[in-house]
Amino acid sequence: MLAGGAYPAMLALGMLKAAPAHAFDLKGRGNGKKIIILGGGLAGMTCAYELNKLGYNCTILEARNRAGGRCWSVRKGSTNTETGKATLTAHFDDGQYFNAGPSRIPHNHQLTLHYCKELGIPLQVYNNVNESTYYFAEGKGALSNKKIRVREIHNDTRGYMAELLAKSIDHGTLDTGLTKEDSEKVIEYLMAEGGLDPDKLYKASARRGYIESPGAGDRPGKIANPHKLADMIQSGLMDPDFYNVAEYTYELQMTMFQAIGGMDQIAFALQKKVAQSLRLGAEVTNIVNIDNGVKVTYKDAQGEHAIQGDICICTLPLPVLSNVSNNFSGDVSRAIDYISYMQTGKIGLQFKRRFWEEDEHIYGGITHTNNELTQIFYPSYDYLGKKGILLGYYNFNEKAQKVGELSYAGREKLALQKGRLIHPQYDTEFENSFSVSWHKTQYNLGGWAVYTNETRKTQYPVLLKPDKQVYFCGEHLTYLNAWMAGAFESARSVVAAVHGRLTDQRIQYPAKTDK
Ligand SMILES: Cc1cc2nc3c(=O)[nH]c(=O)nc-3n(C[C@H](O)[C@H](O)[C@H](O)COP(=O)(O)OP(=O)(O)OC[C@H]3O[C@@H](n4cnc5c(N)ncnc54)[C@H](O)[C@@H]3O)c2cc1C
Repeated sequence: MLAGGAYPAMLALGMLKAAPAHAFDLKGRGNGKKIIILGGGLAGMTCAYELNKLGYNCTILEARNRAGGRCWSVRKGSTNTETGKATLTAHFDDGQYFNAGPSRIPHNHQLTLHYCKELGIPLQVYNNVNESTYYFAEGKGALSNKKIRVREIHNDTRGYMAELLAKSIDHGTLDTGLTKEDSEKVIEYLMAEGGLDPDKLYKASARRGYIESPGAGDRPGKIANPHKLADMIQSGLMDPDFYNVAEYTYELQMTMFQAIGGMDQIAFALQKKVAQSLRLGAEVTNIVNIDNGVKVTYKDAQGEHAIQGDICICTLPLPVLSNVSNNFSGDVSRAIDYISYMQTGKIGLQFKRRFWEEDEHIYGGITHTNNELTQIFYPSYDYLGKKGILLGYYNFNEKAQKVGELSYAGREKLALQKGRLIHPQYDTEFENSFSVSWHKTQYNLGGWAVYTNETRKTQYPVLLKPDKQVYFCGEHLTYLNAWMAGAFESARSVVAAVHGRLTDQRIQYPAKTDK
């Protein structure tokens, strides 16, 4: 009744409350219809959680002996198996962990935050932006191999860019198309933004930090000269390696959150809700559409089994699904094979002492490098504690591929060799490590789906539709790739589609609001 304009009109008249972004109030009952869900990551478990609420009979088949998939925190005793390598076990101290998959929840991912609230998962602020961390350009230009505080580069760059622009406007060499008064306003803004002096020149200010801190008596504090613009350019500090994405990207803007005690608390909380549906250690080997249903074969410690259901929801990552036998259409098989995934890796390094806090006053945030490390993440939990785990690298693409090829010991060696250029304390404080290359990790074989304009246009839409009784679901079937929000959004979208089909309703997801 409320479709086609009445709902927005009533909202506008204040007769209804706007549906919150996370409202998911489906009508009708599943009456025990059988749904087989492949994969017990966030997408698969969310499907089961929501479908169980509606009265369906769900079975989740999960190949690993743990649920959560990519939503995984590595702590003492955690294991991982990569192709061509022995299984790796973590030897961190009790209470120490790092998030091998998701580590940050954007404040604008309302659905992720909604599930954290609904499932009672306590959150804490994640410090993603820290001006005290470093930029480190190895082997390039005048600033080569110097660890430079981010605040120095940010303020010097901002200052020089503001100076260049202010000069151009002032000298009339830039046609702004603005009135004289408006141009003056822009110059006024640039002077404030860049910290320019009255002559519109950039000279260093306290914004870039002190070389001698201010204090009592005769200690006004001392600031250093700015870096030369040409030096910053030639050392590559204005290259993509160092782009200031952390502050500007929509998802990475503060405030960000994390689950207290590890991001896998989200997986654990969901697992508790769907425990009766979940079969761990059950590796799917065959998916077949049959008349009015689907038949799935899987193997576990007891051997091979086949089960049948009315509908199947497949959340297997595409590089994995590509090797599972099936009777999908040619178009679907092609889409599964064509969509590529990110190569990415992380290493957790446990240290005896939180030297980055004690010696260098770094509390959370990210150091950026132009070498294989790409990034070092400082933990946003247990500040001022005794020990801690640094993310020794978090890299992508060719760098991740190269590092992923190394043995576990080789990766540790590289992380320490390159890391000690920035933190010489590595030599005395290091204890042990655990590395994960997601593109080599069994049951994932990639970090997340990466679409080109072409595959987004041609292959993506194919998998948004079911292949007969099989629906495809997961972060890869959204525009929220590389985010847990993608898994949650996709799960809801597929649950709405499946429920609509089995109860003969037209359900729109997301529900229409006047937003
Ligand atoms: C390095 C990294 C960093 C990330 N950072 C963030 C972040 O900061 N914030 C954020 O929100 N998100 C982040 N993400 C993304 C987030 O982790 C994913 O989007 C989300 O967890 C995907 O959930 P999923 O259920 O779609 O897939 P998965 O978690 O991959 O679930 C698929 C499941 O299928 C199972 N499976 C595979 N093969 C079989 C088989 N044959 N039989 C049965 N089961 C099988 C797998 O074991 C797995 O459990 C990150 C991911 C990675 C890898």
